[in-house]
Amino acid sequence: MNNFTFQNPVKLIFGKGSIAKLAKEIPADKKIMVTFGGGSVKKNGVYDQVVAALKGRDFVEFWGIEPNPKIETLRKAIAQGKAEKVDFLLSVGGGSVLDGTKLIAAGIPYDGDAWELVLDEDKIGEVVPFGDVMTLPATGSEMNAGAVISNLATQEKFAFHHSFPQFSILDPEATFSLPPFQVACGIADTFVHVMEQYLTVTGVSPLMDRWAEGILQTLIEIAPKIRANQHDYDQMANFMLCATMGLNGFIAMGVPQDWATHMIGHELTALHGVTHGQTLVVVLPALMSVMREQKKGKILQYGERVFGIREGSEDERIDRTIRATEEFFRSLGLATRLHELQIGQDTIDEIVRRFNERGSRLGEAGNITGDVTRRILELCK
Ligand code: NAP
Ligand code: FE
Repeated sequence: MNNFTFQNPVKLIFGKGSIAKLAKEIPADKKIMVTFGGGSVKKNGVYDQVVAALKGRDFVEFWGIEPNPKIETLRKAIAQGKAEKVDFLLSVGGGSVLDGTKLIAAGIPYDGDAWELVLDEDKIGEVVPFGDVMTLPATGSEMNAGAVISNLATQEKFAFHHSFPQFSILDPEATFSLPPFQVACGIADTFVHVMEQYLTVTGVSPLMDRWAEGILQTLIEIAPKIRANQHDYDQMANFMLCATMGLNGFIAMGVPQDWATHMIGHELTALHGVTHGQTLVVVLPALMSVMREQKKGKILQYGERVFGIREGSEDERIDRTIRATEEFFRSLGLATRLHELQIGQDTIDEIVRRFNERGSRLGEAGNITGDVTRRILELCK
């Protein structure tokens, strides 16, 4: 097992009616800026619950943090935060609002342009404290220090890691209003987060393996029930907890990590605006095929333990496991090929050009170069 340091300070407040507990978590003297997306929270009652919980408190609102939050929008929020002398942030929405809020938190005390913080997290100094009400299970952003920010002008999308929320409020009832496509993308994102931390080499940590497999099996079990009835509280509660546990560091202790699927997926979003979870399910099966030798032992273990694939030669079992993975993604109602998203050869060429220019070496062994990425993307067609 590799050495590791683990620290996760996020206070999770989970369950029905938990938004009402909000005010207690924010010191009374704080000037709060509440950040929102495009308005889903006004339709599903979350906004009213937040305003009721903040009654008597000094707060301003910032609206319009879009999916795949853009630096162009966040600069406006940072300017407002500076002008209003905001000293606490409350994100109300999905992963995009929270990721954007993480940059706003670092950007308010910073004198330069906030995009510099995305490119170089070492430049982050003081950070405004923040908490969140999470309305979309997917990113795990509610219990991690990561954020992914897009730049409209340069068509780039990069992650940075710095600060955890002080608290996260997760009420599964707030997810009932999600569009089914977002639920599918959220299940996919959660599944692939686990795979990025699991599908590397065998034998490093049987404990981490079983924890990861438990999340994957749970997602496979609850996905059809959620597709049949998105208002089933217990299924949505388990989905929410899977998303949080999938990317809060608990399954990453001492094990290698891949993350190449995410890095390639980010480019598809940066160039075409494709929803995050949708990009990942196109890339992962192809990545498994191209990296099958290196990942052989783990693919066989995953196939056996998660899908019950035990018969046939090693090659046959690997093929069946990759097919089962793609079929699971299709069962969510998602596309798994680039042509279904109207993405063609020019995009493959541009991603490979970018990776070559950046000298990218992705994956747990640092051997997914631009050329390997081309082989992966050619298989996604
Ligand atoms: P999102 O982009 O935050 O939200 C997608 C859509 O869902 C928005 O249109 C939003 O509408 C709507 N929505 C959210 N909650 C809703 C609800 N309860 N009812 C109805 N509609 C709702 O989706 P996300 O998947 O959470 O976040 C995606 C972003 O996170 C990507 O940029 C991705 O790269 C990033 N990401 C971050 C991490 C991390 O560790 N931080 C990990 C993986 C991915 P409104 O705007 O109207 O609210
Ligand atoms: Fe993700």
